[in-house]
Amino acid sequence: MDAGDGGAVNGGSEGERRPRVVVVGAGFAGLWAVQRLRREPVDVLLLDRQNYHTFLPLLYQVAAAELGPTDIAYPVRSILRDQKNATFRMAEVVEVDLEHSEVVTPVERIPYDHLILGMGATTHYFGVEGAEEYAFPLRTMDEAIPLRHHVLSRFEEAAYEADAEHRQRLLTFAIVGAGPTGVEFSGALSELIYGPLQKDFPMIDMATVRILLIEAMDGVLQGMPAELSDYARDRLERRKVELKMGSAVARVGPDWVEIEGGERIGTETIVWTGGVRGAQGPRDWGLPVTRSGQIEVERTLAVPGRPGVWAAGDLAYLEEDGEPLPGVAPVALQQGTLAADNIMRQIRGEEPKAFHYRDPGMLAVIGRNAAVARLGGRNFKGFPAWVVWLVVHVAKLIGFRNRVLVLVNWAWNYLFFERAVRLILPFARRSAGDRPRPERPRPLPRGGGSGEPVGEEGVAADEPRGG
Ligand SMILES: Cc1cc2nc3c(=O)[nH]c(=O)nc-3n(C[C@H](O)[C@H](O)[C@H](O)COP(=O)(O)OP(=O)(O)OC[C@H]3O[C@@H](n4cnc5c(N)ncnc54)[C@H](O)[C@@H]3O)c2cc1C
Repeated sequence: MDAGDGGAVNGGSEGERRPRVVVVGAGFAGLWAVQRLRREPVDVLLLDRQNYHTFLPLLYQVAAAELGPTDIAYPVRSILRDQKNATFRMAEVVEVDLEHSEVVTPVERIPYDHLILGMGATTHYFGVEGAEEYAFPLRTMDEAIPLRHHVLSRFEEAAYEADAEHRQRLLTFAIVGAGPTGVEFSGALSELIYGPLQKDFPMIDMATVRILLIEAMDGVLQGMPAELSDYARDRLERRKVELKMGSAVARVGPDWVEIEGGERIGTETIVWTGGVRGAQGPRDWGLPVTRSGQIEVERTLAVPGRPGVWAAGDLAYLEEDGEPLPGVAPVALQQGTLAADNIMRQIRGEEPKAFHYRDPGMLAVIGRNAAVARLGGRNFKGFPAWVVWLVVHVAKLIGFRNRVLVLVNWAWNYLFFERAVRLILPFARRSAGDRPRPERPRPLPRGGGSGEPVGEEGVAADEPRGG
């Protein structure tokens, strides 16, 4: 049975309605929550605006032409195929109607008994003028692919550009934010440029290429011990990445980035990895959000004052030992699991449990043979950390096929200093500024306008139902 077209709606004895759990977001939090409910007497509906789960820790490799999109994404319907009590619907949630306990998509209103919000985070530009308009974000697949096309297209254009000034702008790449994503993307971009692109473009003087990593704070990988941060810094410099630390970006234009103090750098590629804030929706839906747009949750992950509503992952704000929990995958999947457990506890009339983070450690890779890791209170760097990084990331990927594809691609890149994924597809853009922006779908008004009849449980009435 296809998970999305049937799925159990009613279980138990005929006529008895089982509690309905609606989960929004098929990221680490949402997916782990759904899978945790696999054997429970509830009906689960998972909603995501995409029909695939993305393994975000390897997204920068898609942007740097190291891996293809299908290597790190997996169709949600395939993941849930064997879970009899779960249904998937590809839909953007545009509102949560707390008063009527309904989730609203552009085509239907879906009632819930319990709701887990796991919609993740979006890029935060800190109000920097021009950043949202002209810089490339790197948080979703549909942001990584245009960035890859854009980078490769800069080289195609630079190869025949007679104007030296314009050529320099084409060959200057500015990455804003020296956290893990900025560091990893800078390292991967350097290996792409000084590896296969150098061989492919003998007419380009590679000495003129500039990769800048711009950071407002003083060092790279803040939060890592100084020894690891210094190592990462050294390895990036060896890979010809120029570090501009203590340099806050003041403004961004179509072909320049300006640092506070007035320095203006000509570039057609500005990649913004600098900030993160909770997904947009909850800010508009009357949920208690922090200044960073995250939902403030209780230790049980329940949203205070909103019975039946839970939040997990990047979207949830929770502190441990006086510090906000980091926006990382282990937090999200542990929280998704606990939210599901607490829903079941509540259904059984038991007390929900408090969340405590089991920190598996921190990892970041700078490039071939170079990574940093903080595991079990010990620091690792260089080749051993790189091997740990490889093993952890392959092990965590969903799907055997994806693991094999990633391993084959990495082995190929490693042995031949090559990048196989270098197609420039027609939707490559000339500059960041002409990025098409999707229109935000509108919520469906109560009691009207649905394209399809909606059944009692918010399932289209003509959909087959299974048990
Ligand atoms: C480039 C990058 C690199 C990273 N590297 C690492 C790393 O190396 N290690 C690590 O531990 N963490 C890393 N992280 C962080 C980690 O990926 C996140 O902490 C984790 O994905 C959070 O999981 P989540 O389920 O909360 O959100 P997500 O995984 O972001 O999933 C959210 C889901 O919600 C869906 N969604 C959003 N809004 C709606 C809506 N309105 N309607 C329907 N669906 C919606 C989205 O399509 C998405 O599928 C990285 C993140 C990024 C962006």
